[in-house]
Amino acid sequence: REVYADKTIDSVCPFCGVGCLTSVSVKDGKVVSVEGRNGPANENRLCVKGRFGFDYVSSPERLTKPLVRRDDAPKDVGISLTIDNYLEVFREASWDEALDRAAIGLKATFETKGGAGIAGFGSAKGSNEEAYLFQKLIRQGFQTNNVDHCTRLCHASSVAALMEGIGSGAVTAPFNAAEDADCMIVIGARPEQNHPVAATYIKQAAKNGTKLIVMDPRGQGLMRHADYGLKFKPGTDVAMLNAILNVIVTEKLYDEQYIAAHVDGFEALKEKIQDFTPEAMEPVCGIDAGTLREVARLYATSPRSIIYWGMGVSQHVHGTDNVRCLIAMALTTGQIGRPGTGLHPLRGQNNVQGASDAGLIPMVFPDYRSVENVDIRAEYEDAWGRTLDPVRGLTVVEIMDDILAGGIEAMYIQGENPAMSDPDQNHARKALSSLKHLVVQDIFLTETAWHADVILPASAHAEKLGTYTNTNRQVQIGRPCVPMPGEARADWELIIAIANRLGLDWSYDGVPAIYEEMRSHMASIQNISWERLEREGTVTYPADSPDKPGNEILFGQSFPTADGRGKIVPTDLVPPDETPDADFPMVLTTGRMLEHWHTGAMTRRAAVLDAIEPEPVVSMNPRDIKLQGLEIGQQVTVETRRGAITLTLRADRDVSTGMMFVPFCFYEAPANFLTNPQLDPFGKIPEFKFCAARISAA
Ligand code: SF4
Repeated sequence: REVYADKTIDSVCPFCGVGCLTSVSVKDGKVVSVEGRNGPANENRLCVKGRFGFDYVSSPERLTKPLVRRDDAPKDVGISLTIDNYLEVFREASWDEALDRAAIGLKATFETKGGAGIAGFGSAKGSNEEAYLFQKLIRQGFQTNNVDHCTRLCHASSVAALMEGIGSGAVTAPFNAAEDADCMIVIGARPEQNHPVAATYIKQAAKNGTKLIVMDPRGQGLMRHADYGLKFKPGTDVAMLNAILNVIVTEKLYDEQYIAAHVDGFEALKEKIQDFTPEAMEPVCGIDAGTLREVARLYATSPRSIIYWGMGVSQHVHGTDNVRCLIAMALTTGQIGRPGTGLHPLRGQNNVQGASDAGLIPMVFPDYRSVENVDIRAEYEDAWGRTLDPVRGLTVVEIMDDILAGGIEAMYIQGENPAMSDPDQNHARKALSSLKHLVVQDIFLTETAWHADVILPASAHAEKLGTYTNTNRQVQIGRPCVPMPGEARADWELIIAIANRLGLDWSYDGVPAIYEEMRSHMASIQNISWERLEREGTVTYPADSPDKPGNEILFGQSFPTADGRGKIVPTDLVPPDETPDADFPMVLTTGRMLEHWHTGAMTRRAAVLDAIEPEPVVSMNPRDIKLQGLEIGQQVTVETRRGAITLTLRADRDVSTGMMFVPFCFYEAPANFLTNPQLDPFGKIPEFKFCAARISAA
């Protein structure tokens, strides 16, 4: 490799939240191979995406010139553009023209409607510095908190419950804590597909004797390594978890001393879960009472137990309640704050933790400090020299609704693709095409860019410097490996260029200067200077001093709540928003697949990955396929009350009867034309994991 490549550069994987460190080999200005480095999250390992998903960077479909919409091009909801026909709708422009148009359109809306007319989506694929600048631009430039990103679609409910219960939205222990655990619960997560390197630590621990309990309505490979595999009925998480809590309480498996010292709400929990006996919940969740009892005992009485969860838990109208149950399990048993214990929501995108920490969410400034707190807001008003919006902003799905209600008229979208990732795409795409002014900054002509007025060609991960924070709270540096194509520019430079056209007079002497300004606002990374990051490569936050390693295990002594105590919030059963009926008799669930990442904009353009999974599929149990008179491999139409898509039928015994699974990465058959936009009332996350659907031959 050294002989072949011109150079190798140390960086970090651009895909999932595991944050594997990489060594990127470059020849003739192109990435030619990627290998794992000895990072704290991967110890030289990489999955198929990290190893083979790099050639999207040099794809001929990269945007290389600024584009502006032609004056006569209609904003058609049903528009579909490719690299071959996009010049019928857009024309190439100079940077000055594109940036002027982008800023003038945003400014014009601000002048007529104020901040209420503007919204921005930043990106969890971008760096911490870009996330910080983007939320600053929207808040300072447009005096609104209407700024959000894809965390709203993945772990917003987890963060809502964690902030309420333990005062912090981040993980309490790294996933590698599996090595110290005696018992692990993996619920609503499929790490073999979505966090593959993290899965290797979980499997290795199971092999070494740690008890593994996997809870998932769909079967999965991890169940082969598990002591218990609980295929519960979809949408019944609270029934199952409250039954486990019932056993913990009635069999006195809780830690009385720990509760007395650290936890409020136990009496209310005792009261609430009286009726949730395993016997009563067995017909609801589909897991027999005996198994529920055994699992509760195993989790509660093991010396060290840890819980991992994913979007199967969070993407429900009762997502926050699901996480409240998991927090209650940890707090009643004291399974938190020690090595081998804790709560770990596995993060989806490489920087969703960091982007959230940097304030790219409508309720909070950096470090989750409320925009509604007068003192905190005054601190930012002093620093940024502007009066700031005193109320929390709208979230991702609320922004789409507000556009169609005549509120928001202009948006700046950096690196996100809501025209593929938002639920109920007919609604979302109608909203995007209704905007008076849409600026899209991206590396490809995404489905969202189809609706833009101005498109700014931006930087891929491999082309820029920046920090990224993984699911373990490890802050790591991504480095430029190859030049940007054509006239493309770094995202952070473009955000600054827009800010200065709005008259904000920003001046940063490069990425380290942005990081240092961000750090000045964030206690969590106070002791992690840019210079330290350069020197150490990876630092976990929080660190107690500039020369002490970061704290991997949090909350051994107290929680960062007002009184230092954790809080149990008892929950009731809340049914899914839309249940199967005679017209739509099946349950549809959506998610990712191993080879493709999120909306597929990057991995569909990576040759190896697209060759492995090249076409849209719906997976169904073979018994259902037979029952419905369908054939494996045939084209079928999957339909819900919101839309229909046509794709190939695949047999999968892991999918329970009565269910269908569709990945959301295929633009040819976007799963989100089908999904339900109904929101969890606390986390404002849509119910991607459950809606009523039907299937028929195409
Ligand atoms: Fe990249 Fe995640 Fe795979 Fe690691 S596990 S190589 S971070 S996609």
